[in-house]
Amino acid sequence: MDKIKMTTPIVEMDGDEMTRILWQMIKDDLLLPYIDLKTEYYDLGLEYRDETNDQVTIDSANATKKYGVAVKCATITPNAARVEEYHLKEMWKSPNGTIRAILDGTVFRAPIVVKGIEPCVKNWKRPITIARHAYGDVYKGSEMKIPGPGKVELVYTAGDGSESRELVHDFTCPGIVQGMHNINKSIESFARSCFNYALDTKQDLWFATKDTISKKYDHTFKDIFQEIFDSEYAEKFDAAGITYFYTLIDDAVARVMKSEGGYIWACKNYDGDVMSDMISSAFGSLAMMTSVLVSPDGNYEYEAAHGTVQRHYYKHLKGEETSTNSVATIFAWTGALRKRGELDGNKELMEFADKLEKATIDTIEGGEMTKDLSLITTIQNPVVLNSGDFIKAIAKRL
Ligand code: NAP
Ligand code: MG
Repeated sequence: MDKIKMTTPIVEMDGDEMTRILWQMIKDDLLLPYIDLKTEYYDLGLEYRDETNDQVTIDSANATKKYGVAVKCATITPNAARVEEYHLKEMWKSPNGTIRAILDGTVFRAPIVVKGIEPCVKNWKRPITIARHAYGDVYKGSEMKIPGPGKVELVYTAGDGSESRELVHDFTCPGIVQGMHNINKSIESFARSCFNYALDTKQDLWFATKDTISKKYDHTFKDIFQEIFDSEYAEKFDAAGITYFYTLIDDAVARVMKSEGGYIWACKNYDGDVMSDMISSAFGSLAMMTSVLVSPDGNYEYEAAHGTVQRHYYKHLKGEETSTNSVATIFAWTGALRKRGELDGNKELMEFADKLEKATIDTIEGGEMTKDLSLITTIQNPVVLNSGDFIKAIAKRL
């Protein structure tokens, strides 16, 4: 059999601990036998990040801007314990944070739906994708405790020194106050990322805020989405047979619970934080989620939504058997391969991504799975496989 050829490389960001072990197994058993794999390799393992003073992370993000598609393994975000464990020169920043700051954009997370791993919400038939705005609001807020009577105001001082004021509250007793912001440019890129992703995946887009109460702040989100939709996307949505739907956040929550799924739910930063954990746990687990960062200028970085699975790695180092779920990491690769195929007009590569996903899902639906899934499946007497054998079982079907 001839291997599938690639024309443009994928940016490959290797990572840490157990996911680094899975990464190599996935390449050896599921990719290299079938694809003449072209990647530009960046080692984001903590040791090499330290050796390069984190330059490798910056280089990998810039390479993503050059080639348009990246696949990332989970990486350690160092804390004090890691600085000691790895004898680090510095407590390097989160690689995801560094990459997001360079690429900008929105993180899309969708559950991988498998028969036998049933959502708690019984009418959810298809995945619900959360698109979380990753800038501002309470995450960049300032707060004060108000000790006693007194006036709190918002003050805007323009470049020419002129001031405008808005009363927050005239306190007669102790209380609390919070100020937060967002910027139009970030909301615009959030909107475009969501509209582009909806077109890419041919799914309806929902967006919700509390504009009836927050008549300036949330209303600006609503207005920016609507203006960009009307001027840039309405016709494309029509042609693709999909819709953009705006409603109030409480109405959206009620409708989500009653829906069949199969759409993208764009959320402001805080709503996305809260709702993505609800959606992912209701659908099964973080190891059964896809995650992709989409930048406003059309770059894609695929990753698993979980971490490096440190506890399993320490068992692995002691020579003990592990049963770590590689599905999210496999789907990071298939997402990147499919997108690469799409951008390069490489149909074989796109079809390979479909086949690998199907083999993965069929393996689980056939009753062979890792331990985490065996604990939540409705399949009777599942066969629990170790990390390597699960990947080999997929390879057999592939
Ligand atoms: P984690 O790696 O996601 O693991 C937490 C626990 O969840 C595991 O101990 C395991 O439970 C379960 N789990 C997660 N993924 C699994 C999988 N694929 N298969 C089976 N079980 C899985 O989170 P963490 O332990 O809090 O963080 C470890 C490291 O990952 C940290 O250094 C953190 O900085 C990093 N991290 C990286 C990313 C990223 O790069 N995107 C995201 C989050 C965290 P049991 O132990 O009960 O089996
Ligand atoms: Mg959270």
